[in-house]
Amino acid sequence: MNDERILETEQSENENRQEVFLRPEDFSEYVGQKKVVQNIDVMVKSAKIRKQAMDHALLSGPPGLGKTSLAMIIAKALDSELHVISGPAIEKKGDLAALLTNLNEGDVLFIDEIHRLNIAIEEILYSAMEDYRLDIVIGEGPSARTMQIGIAPFTLIGATTRSGLLSSPLRDRFMAHLHFDFYDHEELSQIVENNSRKLKIGLEGETKIHIAQCSRGTPRIANRILRRVRDYAIVSGKDSICEDAVEKSLELMDIDKFGLDRMDRKILEVINDYYKGGPVGIEALCATLSEDRTTIEDVYEPFLLKEGFLIRTPRGREISQKAKDHLKS
Ligand code: ADP
Repeated sequence: MNDERILETEQSENENRQEVFLRPEDFSEYVGQKKVVQNIDVMVKSAKIRKQAMDHALLSGPPGLGKTSLAMIIAKALDSELHVISGPAIEKKGDLAALLTNLNEGDVLFIDEIHRLNIAIEEILYSAMEDYRLDIVIGEGPSARTMQIGIAPFTLIGATTRSGLLSSPLRDRFMAHLHFDFYDHEELSQIVENNSRKLKIGLEGETKIHIAQCSRGTPRIANRILRRVRDYAIVSGKDSICEDAVEKSLELMDIDKFGLDRMDRKILEVINDYYKGGPVGIEALCATLSEDRTTIEDVYEPFLLKEGFLIRTPRGREISQKAKDHLKS
């Protein structure tokens, strides 16, 4: 591994540790997403009264909005064990079968990026979700037999950034489909305030609102900015965050007043400069940006669309007047 890669790995491990540290522990610490939380609250309470596993739930929305955190809170509220796995990490049918047969009654299985589960593997989930049963085919050809193995009643929580990519047999087996929206500035400043307490750093004046405004409606980004601003304050010998520290840190992170980062601006600039403002097809746009389509569609576009910088038309992506004005400023 080269030095840069080692540094990157260390940074992301450090970021993961920090993320665990800043995760909300229960519903009282979980800010916003009122509709989702209300639905989950009823489902958890019902499961506890029935003394049965909670119904399967599908959580969808852009990355960093709190899907994993909510799954952890659900498992805790149910007093159940949580098993976390990512869809693309399940490579063989046997891996998923082993995971399912090892579950205890009432356990919660969280599959992140469930839309990236291989279709042949995904089929195992159908009977597991519906009848708590695995159908395993033994042998091949005319002598093939199907063996059924019972599994403990469990709860599957699937998380996806693209619910549209889920096959309909899988989607239909989730009793609850819950969509996560971007957070408003008030909710994000509440998260910043809570986490500044965990990080033992003060917040002066309007700094929490300023951080919230630049966080792309996303708690994970609010946390990242908060930590960078905290570092800046500490290095400057302060035990609280002032407006100047926020400004300087955002400048260092290349984040502008709308919360757009270098890549967001590059997307808008490329459409403006190379494609005369659009429309441009997603494939051509990704080729010009040398960026992967999934990253553009899942990570960058949702916020640019929501804030009205980008417009999706049947002929491709266009940038809005708001984006043109912003690029000129
Ligand atoms: P996702 O699974 O949707 O990518 P995560 O659950 O990993 O998102 O959230 C990333 C971080 O953002 C968490 O570690 C947590 O600190 C913070 N976070 C997310 N949602 C909330 C929330 N509703 N309230 C407080 N903090 C949150």
